[in-house]
Amino acid sequence: MLSQIAQKHADACRFCWMCRHLCPVGLQTGKEANTPRAKGLQLSLTQRGSASFDANMAEGMYECLLCDACTNDCVTGFEPPLYIREARTQAMVEDIAPAPVVQVLDNIERTGNIYGEEKPTFPSKDNAEVLLYVGEVAACRVPQLAEAYMRLLDKAGISYMTLEQEPPSGAMLGDLIGFTQEVQDQGAACVKALDASGADTVIVLDSYDAAVMRQRWPEWGLSAKAQIITATAFLDQLVQEGKLKLRSLNQTATYHDDSRAARTLQEFEPPRALLAAAGIALSEMFLHRDLAKCCGSSLANAYMPQITLLTAQGRWHDALRTQAQLLVTTCPQSMELLGRAVPQDMELIDLYTLLERACE
Ligand code: SF4
Ligand code: SF4
Repeated sequence: MLSQIAQKHADACRFCWMCRHLCPVGLQTGKEANTPRAKGLQLSLTQRGSASFDANMAEGMYECLLCDACTNDCVTGFEPPLYIREARTQAMVEDIAPAPVVQVLDNIERTGNIYGEEKPTFPSKDNAEVLLYVGEVAACRVPQLAEAYMRLLDKAGISYMTLEQEPPSGAMLGDLIGFTQEVQDQGAACVKALDASGADTVIVLDSYDAAVMRQRWPEWGLSAKAQIITATAFLDQLVQEGKLKLRSLNQTATYHDDSRAARTLQEFEPPRALLAAAGIALSEMFLHRDLAKCCGSSLANAYMPQITLLTAQGRWHDALRTQAQLLVTTCPQSMELLGRAVPQDMELIDLYTLLERACE
């Protein structure tokens, strides 16, 4: 069932407890089956013929955010998401994936996004050199974040376009069914659309899309002609170049690094530089930067909302232990998830809306 490399990783994890304290799902549900070790042990047993891969086990493989906190902490270099993704492929092949997961797959196949909705479109100028790739979560659930970003581009004098029919990058489907040929075909179609736009630079709002574009596409032999840059890094450049001027807001905030920005892209400084430029004093959570605890993903939220409510509450618990009453993030998915559980006396805001307040 598993590839040789995934089997090696599962075997390594099966008796190891070293990263269990960092798993946001295991921490919040308290279920042993939700630790990286338990998932490795179960898959290892199936490979050895001592257990069968059934619907119950398949469900457990979906109770993971693919946040890579385990991978990041592993001193021996093992990666639970590697075998968890392959197990998801197997669950789909054997038709034993949980019904809510199959529903999300159906949504993607019908509409190209996890919500099964028509994706809204955004303003666009013809033949601009810069293309803003909005992504399905910002477009469908957090449009205010996308619109604030566009207004910042306007203020900085950047002419940009968006795609009327923005294809998926492969990020969601890859997390749902593993990196199959179908997912790579999605990536290839997205590259084609980006190339056809003629843009020199593609700004990506959602780190999940940026991560698949920057890390997975090259592994699949895909390469867009344009430079791909995250929205936060692009904005940081604009401030450094003096194209966007910010005044001090003189506030204190805590910052949530989302999993893909933190651990796949390792992008920590641009958001912090932007907060500093807007006069925001940071009160960091205990687990931040590459150790940041995941609050949930929009994909997981679409098929297991009870668990993602717990993981969002877990991250708010971290924020409540800082000196800040304001939590800032750049991630549309974190906005969707954390927005479900804002504690009394706390405020959640995306970085771009906050920076708009600081614009001179
Ligand atoms: S990822 Fe590393 S630390 Fe975590 S269970 Fe596997 S071997 Fe142990
Ligand atoms: S990827 Fe994240 S959610 Fe999944 S087992 Fe590892 S730490 Fe837990």
